[in-house]
Order: sequence, then C-alpha cells, then structure tokens
Amino acid sequence: MEEFLAFKSSPNQFIIEFPGRTRLYLKREDLLHPEVSGNKFRKLKYNLKEAFQQNKDSLLTFGGAYSNHIAATAAAGKISGIKTIGVIRGEELGVNFEKNLLGNPTLKFAHSCGMRFLFISRSDFREKATPDFQQKLKEKFGDYYMLPEGGTNALAVKGCAEILDEDDKDFDFIACAAGTGGTMAGLLNTSGKHQKILGFPALKGDFLETEVQKFSLRKNYQFILNYHFGGYAKVDSELINFINKFQKNYQIQLDPIYTGKLVFGIFDLVKKGFFAPGTSILAIHTGGLQGIAGINKRLKQKKLPQIRNLEPGQ
Ligand SMILES: *Cc1c(COP(=O)(O)O)cnc(C)c1O
Repeated sequence: MEEFLAFKSSPNQFIIEFPGRTRLYLKREDLLHPEVSGNKFRKLKYNLKEAFQQNKDSLLTFGGAYSNHIAATAAAGKISGIKTIGVIRGEELGVNFEKNLLGNPTLKFAHSCGMRFLFISRSDFREKATPDFQQKLKEKFGDYYMLPEGGTNALAVKGCAEILDEDDKDFDFIACAAGTGGTMAGLLNTSGKHQKILGFPALKGDFLETEVQKFSLRKNYQFILNYHFGGYAKVDSELINFINKFQKNYQIQLDPIYTGKLVFGIFDLVKKGFFAPGTSILAIHTGGLQGIAGINKRLKQKKLPQIRNLEPGQ
C-alpha cells in the first residue's frame, strides 16, 4: 500500500525527429503500474489516501462497461485493501451477468479484483450525481468514498500535477489526450509559463474548457478539436492502421480511445506545419491499454482490422 502510493516518475522516450527538427518524446506513464496504469494511477493516489484518512471501507465510482477508470479503481482497491463498487451504465448488462462478464474483458477484470457492480439504465446514469440518487446508493452500499465518473476531482488533479518533472520544463509543448480534462489541468498546474499544453479531446463536445478552468487558473493551453474520429470510442481503419504501424516501428502500444488519437493527431499536425522548426514536444502516454481487448472484439464482429496487441494479458 505505502509502496503502491509512493511517488513515481516515468521515463521520457525519444520517438522521432521530423523534418524541420521537430522532436517528439513520449512520457511512458503506461509503465507506472501493470494494472493501475497511466493517469488513472495519478488520479487515484490522493483520493485513496483521503478515503483511508476518512476511515471509509469502500470506494464507489461510475463508468461505462469498458472504462479504464473502472478497471483501475478495481485494481487499486484490491491492492490497497479497500472494497470497490462500480455503478455501470447499461442495466441490460446485469440481466445475464455471468454471460456478459465473459464477453467483457474490463468487467471481467474488475470482477476478478473483487469489485461489486450495480448496473443502471442510461437515464439513471445521467442522474447519478443528484442528491436523490446518491441517497439511494448510500442506503444500498453504506458509507462509501465517492469518485466521480472518469475520476476527476481536486485530489485527482493534484495527483496529475506529479506527471511532469522539473526536467520537462525544456519542452515547448506538452500534449495529452483529454476525457474529463483533469489530467490536462494537472499538467497545466506544473507547466512552465513558456510551455503550451495541447489537449486532444477523445470525444465531441465543448464542456472541457469549463472543466479545465475549474481546476487550473493557467491559460497556457489549447484544445486541438479535430482528432476525436467521430466521438468517444469511435475508431476507423486509418486510426487502427496508424496504431499498428506505430507499434511495429517503435514497439510501443497505443490505445484506440485516447493515446492513439493523440499521437495520430501530433503526426498529422507536424505534417500540416503546426509546429515551428526546432520545436520539442512531450506527449503523455496516459495508459489505457486494457481497453484494447474490448475494441478488438467489436472490430472482429464487424470483420474489420484489429489492433495488434503487445500485451494480450491486459
Ligand atoms: C481516462 C483517460 C484519459 C482522460 O483523462 P482525463 O483526465 O479524464 O482527461 C486519457 N488517456 C487515457 C489512457 C485514459 O484512460
């Protein structure tokens, strides 16, 4: 537990120098922990400490059926000896639970970590933060510590502020994928004023700006809006081919929901002349590799090319 939550730093790996001497490095947050990888470790760290401080015996959180945050919370709970409860979008998943579990690598993994599930309808899921719904959850599960969907709150942002090291101040750009914007806010809070944080949203919508500003007063950031590939968890063959080619060239696995879109976007921006000559970019590999198996199942059903997976166990 102590060791699990100890300060961690991940290496920067040089990837490529493009024409014009633009250099790309990847911060390997995916290597932080085999099961609680990347930014999900950062987001859970201070929340776990707080849950213990408050003497809570369980963590309760929310997510979709393939959520990295659900998988990471389940694993972190198992490692640190606190019970976990996952409130999952989609009541149909609970109907034939044993069978659905076999078909869903994320839930199967979370279940193996001891996570309890509550499957709720999409409309209930939208209401999950209301006092009424919270009251119902309290009656069912007792005095839990609650983490929001995606895991972002002030303590999560504090954890994400530990992603960057002092040495990272030399980079001109720090680039990351954005879901809730919590990771981006943490990066912003430790960035140098001369640096620019580029956020690549993994979904459509314009709520991210508000989220980032809720957790950071800094203004040295920019959203790059056109690399979500149609929306959250949407993929196409161009993206899948890029991820497979990147894996072949650099022996680094990217995920299709966040980091694949991020790195694809950076390569495309370089091509389009977005970066001045001599620029250095540090992209954050936020992990998320557990999501590959789920996407591959979907691609297989549609008879589309799949992601070659370096880590079949994940
Ligand atoms: C959850 C996740 C993100 C998004 O992080 P936010 O803090 O919600 O913006 C990015 N990358 C990966 C791999 C993730 O699992």
